[in-house]
Amino acid sequence: MEILTNKEEVREKLKNNPLQAAHLLRLNGYGSINYECACGETHDANGKDVSCKGSAKPFKALLKCSNNFVTMIKIEGFFRKKAISEYGFKASIMD
Ligand SMILES: [Zn+2]
Repeated sequence: MEILTNKEEVREKLKNNPLQAAHLLRLNGYGSINYECACGETHDANGKDVSCKGSAKPFKALLKCSNNFVTMIKIEGFFRKKAISEYGFKASIMD
């Protein structure tokens, strides 16, 4: 996973892969989808501590964890979903 360290890098990523509303991607109903977070821990994308901030095509979600890190994951698999972490950053760099 790529760790972004400043706003410009985040903007550049989002320009290439624009964000859409979080509700356009439904992750609930798939059970636990563990992903590697930019904070170094592994979280469940459907867990209580993780909130979905947006989605992107084709099947990506921007997730924020309780440690205040944001990670873009790509969901793969048809019946069994797995998450590939593409990039992440500390949420505070966007303040
Ligand atoms: Zn985290």
